[in-house]
Amino acid sequence: MGYIMAIITQIFIFLFGSAIGSFLNVCIYRIPREKSIANPPSACPGCDKPIRFYDNIPILSYILLRGKCRDCGTKISIRYPLVELLTAILFLILYRKLGFTFELFVFLIFVSLLIAISFIDLDFQIIPDILSIGGVVLGFLLAIARPFFRNIDPKFGIMDSLYGIGLGGGLLFAIAWSYQFVTKREGMGGGDIKLLAMVGAFCGIKGVIFSLVSGSILGTIVGIPLMLAKKESTKYAIPFGPFLSLGALVYVFIGNTLIRSTLNFLVGR
Ligand SMILES: [Zn+2]
Repeated sequence: MGYIMAIITQIFIFLFGSAIGSFLNVCIYRIPREKSIANPPSACPGCDKPIRFYDNIPILSYILLRGKCRDCGTKISIRYPLVELLTAILFLILYRKLGFTFELFVFLIFVSLLIAISFIDLDFQIIPDILSIGGVVLGFLLAIARPFFRNIDPKFGIMDSLYGIGLGGGLLFAIAWSYQFVTKREGMGGGDIKLLAMVGAFCGIKGVIFSLVSGSILGTIVGIPLMLAKKESTKYAIPFGPFLSLGALVYVFIGNTLIRSTLNFLVGR
């Protein structure tokens, strides 16, 4: 019986993740356009007809409708089901890693914020304050609550969150300021600074450093060929937010293992 329950639970987590992913799609579309995320219900951008509830099933509806609106045939972006699938998979991995704990609740929120922020930043090169600053506040409030829930390892408390916010906000601000001072042009956006402060609020100092270093490496690997292809100068053309978010995701899932093995490698063990 045990394994049947385990499978049912994981299916439930996956479906829950895909539903949250569907909600994130709404946030990604509406927040940067300054529209309400509650009203009106989703409609086709082509013909304005409201989407029927049975055409609004995450992942599945896209496949059944073959990526087209039922009324007017307008193409639906493949990104909608992909965001739903991504969220579902990340939720499932988090559950398998953390089980039904308060930490799971905390990191489901964190991962959802990172997904919404990344795609908005890709589309508009902005990170809305409601998500980043809101995330800082939320991460701090959850850090206050975390010690009241047992089975938390490693311990993460109010001060860890505060130091993380301070370093995340302060470190990037210092880098951005020096870059601007030296080159006389804007490098890192204010949005990235608030995003890293949010990472700090949820993951502390270690998470901030890890996300910044791995995000910079990922950004360089992806960014240099893109810049060469576009023949653009070193001007800030590619948003940094998605890379910082990816770095933070890697930290949440395998950060501690990666840090440990890197340190072991460096001391020759
Ligand atoms: Zn339509």
